[in-house]
Amino acid sequence: EAKEAHGSGFRFFDAALAADVLARAEIERDLARAIDAGELFLEYQPIVGVESRAVRSFEALLRWQHPEKGRIMPAVFIPVAEKTGLILPLGNWVVREACREAANWPAPAGVAVNVVGDQFKDSAFVDYVKQCLVEAGLAPGRLTIEVTESVFSVDETVIRESLCELRDHGVRVALDDFGVGFSSINNLRAFPIDQLKIDRSFARAMMETRRDAELVDIILKLGQTFQVATTVEGIETEGQLEFIRQRGASEAQGFLISAPVGADDVRRLLLKTESRLSA
Ligand code: C2E
Ligand code: MG
Ligand code: MG
Ligand code: MG
Repeated sequence: EAKEAHGSGFRFFDAALAADVLARAEIERDLARAIDAGELFLEYQPIVGVESRAVRSFEALLRWQHPEKGRIMPAVFIPVAEKTGLILPLGNWVVREACREAANWPAPAGVAVNVVGDQFKDSAFVDYVKQCLVEAGLAPGRLTIEVTESVFSVDETVIRESLCELRDHGVRVALDDFGVGFSSINNLRAFPIDQLKIDRSFARAMMETRRDAELVDIILKLGQTFQVATTVEGIETEGQLEFIRQRGASEAQGFLISAPVGADDVRRLLLKTESRLSA
């Protein structure tokens, strides 16, 4: 937003803006060595079947433990990484680490990784993903690549070919944050998609207005039409879970089930699920 504020020529000087620019420069500098310094790690948030409540997979979410600033969340540093090109080494690290850790989980529990458009511009990316799967000994079907619809603004041909190649290899593809931003039915027709993740803003809104409830209905029907799994993000209450269950959503993710947890807690969550299933 700093750039926009400048471009408008509207603000001459703004202390908050200056601080923001400074913070970005610092983040950029520190992020460049964060990978090698071992400051990055992944947390995992379970995605459960709506009916069974059994954990099917975990979404890998990147965290940065900064030596002075403490834990920094991706909303702060991913945009900086995207602007500076650091997203490439960072994104590669995430794929490899997620595959490596997921290979230790009991099958068929899967792992989902967030990938942005710039990563597909690197022609070696798809091969890199395949290589990570082999190295880790993880079956391709246990990996999901999550993209938001903003990837389609990169280069449609490149994206389509990359996603098709991943999918032919057995990797799943999820459309993240669906329903906000650039949502288009055409994207569902034109690209190979296995899963629709409905943006978490809907989980709240659908309980508040009839219009949003109907929108969720429509998106879930869209998912059924295209025969893809439908996951609602941001489920925080039993009421929301019941609401999407009645409307046929296949999966849920959110604080009600669990906040993102450290790698050590993944097994515990899987065991908890198993005991619930046998109970
Ligand atoms: P996302 O992919 O949509 O991930 C879900 C975000 O929603 C996570 O935030 C998660 O902690 C949060 N969340 C989950 N359940 C709930 C809930 O019930 N209520 C609320 N209010 N929030 C919930 P997080 O970890 O801060 O990540 C934010 C975003 O950063 C992600 O959104 C994703 O776009 C991006 N991100 C995270 N890790 C990576 C990564 O490795 N690579 C890239 N490119 N982006 C990443
Ligand atoms: Mg995601
Ligand atoms: Mg999401
Ligand atoms: Mg989101």
